[in-house]
Amino acid sequence: MPEESRTPGTIAFIGLGQMGLPMSGRLAAAGMAVRGFDMSEAAMSKLAAAGGQVFSTARQAAEGADVLITMLPNSKIVRDVLLGDGDAAGALAADALVIDMSSSAPLDTRALGKALEERGIRLIDAPVSGGVARAREGSLAIMLGGEPEDIERARGILAPMGTRIFPTGKLGSGHAMKALNNYVSAAGLVAACEALIVGAAFGLEPATITDVLNASTGRNNSTELKLKQHIISGTFGSGFGLALLAKDIGIAADLADEIGRPARGMRASAEIWTEATAELGEAADHTEIYKLLADGGRGSPR
Ligand code: NAD
Repeated sequence: MPEESRTPGTIAFIGLGQMGLPMSGRLAAAGMAVRGFDMSEAAMSKLAAAGGQVFSTARQAAEGADVLITMLPNSKIVRDVLLGDGDAAGALAADALVIDMSSSAPLDTRALGKALEERGIRLIDAPVSGGVARAREGSLAIMLGGEPEDIERARGILAPMGTRIFPTGKLGSGHAMKALNNYVSAAGLVAACEALIVGAAFGLEPATITDVLNASTGRNNSTELKLKQHIISGTFGSGFGLALLAKDIGIAADLADEIGRPARGMRASAEIWTEATAELGEAADHTEIYKLLADGGRGSPR
């Protein structure tokens, strides 16, 4: 049977957080059999209410599944869930496909792919962009790294979650692309915040600064969707954690070093975001970087 005509079968979904919950909910709403697990009981109740089945361990959720999706904080946790004490990989059906949709580190992904291959399990990386709002509406951008036949096998499963799907090359290339995207996005956010801070100190109105940027060459995703909505409003509630974005920029800067192409902007950015995580805490929203920048590095953020 050609890979593209395979039906998805049973899907285990591990990691039901800000992103994983709406993504798994969309699979359930599309009629797929979703078996979910998260360490948070509250998250599991929400998936159960959205039509998924929930289990008390990742291994139980993985039992007999044809496909296992991870939407977890980082590479280390993805590996622990699959191959650590719980050994979720050991419970999967023969020839199962693992789809890591987390924003993981590309070289770790390659190493994980080798370890899974030894057990007859396929791996692709399928990180996403678009945030919680687009996860809810199923319009995420999805970057896909892996072998072409595995990517074709995944397409039908990914369709309810994303409308723009980009095969990026071999295993790990999706994760590399995702880290690079988030570096560019984070740099745009820092630039927008600094323009706001300096402009306001000079006497410009924050709303005017935003409107002019959005009508001019300074426009970016943060000027359009974050300045007024989350920063000027003081709500700081985008749903994407600061520590997660700091991790992504670190992945990009480390990748640049690891492949012998160190990038000064990436490293400088990684330092700003690492400092922000230390100052503002793991629970901060990424838009709260504004608070650190507004303080100008002179002590505690406002
Ligand atoms: P989140 O912190 O809201 O969710 C992560 C979930 O993983 C939590 O519910 C947590 O309980 C669970 N978890 C952690 N360790 C676990 C384990 N060992 N077993 C089972 N569950 C475990 O994070 P998120 O915002 O949903 O992000 C998930 C991934 O997606 C991250 O890699 C992030 O970088 C990426 N991402 C996030 C966004 C966003 O806007 N939030 C956008 C694109 C990509």
